[in-house]
Amino acid sequence: MDSEEIRSAKASLEKAIQSRNTETMLDIMNRLRTGVVATEELLKETRLGLVIGKLRSYPNEKVNECAREIVKKWKTDVSRGRPLKAAATGGANAASPAPKGAGVGTPVQKQSQNQSVGGQRTFKTDKVDVNVTDDKIRNNCVGLIYNALALDTDADSSLILKRSIEIDAQVLARASGNTGSEYRNRMRSLYMNLKDKSNPKLRASVLSEDISAQRLSNMNSAELASEDRRKEDAKLEQENLFHAQGAKPQKAITDLFTCGKCKQKKVSYYQMQTRSADEPMTTFCECVVCGNRWKFS
Ligand SMILES: [Zn+2]
Repeated sequence: MDSEEIRSAKASLEKAIQSRNTETMLDIMNRLRTGVVATEELLKETRLGLVIGKLRSYPNEKVNECAREIVKKWKTDVSRGRPLKAAATGGANAASPAPKGAGVGTPVQKQSQNQSVGGQRTFKTDKVDVNVTDDKIRNNCVGLIYNALALDTDADSSLILKRSIEIDAQVLARASGNTGSEYRNRMRSLYMNLKDKSNPKLRASVLSEDISAQRLSNMNSAELASEDRRKEDAKLEQENLFHAQGAKPQKAITDLFTCGKCKQKKVSYYQMQTRSADEPMTTFCECVVCGNRWKFS
């Protein structure tokens, strides 16, 4: 992502936060997570660090996790960038944005080495007419989806257009034929996931129809995310089970344990194998009287 893309992503993120649209928030955050190599300058200049930092306490577990993960990654990025920066600061004006492609201080596009400069394929470069409906919003969306699908394929432009039209039709049907916010949020989400550089498999599967337009239109953000992302999510979910509000292993209430805080003996607990199989189970306890939580193994 270049600094302009980052700025626009930040603006969209702030909008999504305001309208409490967590699906869009997660989409944008995932893009920021994979597409941004953070530097101190970038975080200060865009105030992106602040926005993401705050999201660590947003009232949604998935958003928290994603924000924490981004902060962690960016901290690593920044500390990695430091020695380089010291060598490169010779007279550079920190306040002015560095030109595209200039080393430190510029957000670096991942995997950009393999791409020919300016060679990105779009409906415009393919000379494809995306005015396929009489609705401007829909035509714009078809164009966006086309550009995402065309990113790294040499598939025929008629096929890419066909899939884009199918996706538009499915999403529109799902939104009861209405191009309101449901349709637009969904198309935006699909566009962002489809053009995600770390998720070439999704694009390919949609083009080959391994994932039909209908199925795509119904996939949630976890299903849309790249395999790497899914693995990370699964790991995080495992690690954070204790704090998660969602699905937990079945709990039992016992008077075997005494709460250290309120000294009552009404404790719900569940056990889980958190480390290797030959080690004892970890027991997670929660006092049903005062909410105190602890674990032991
Ligand atoms: Zn208690």
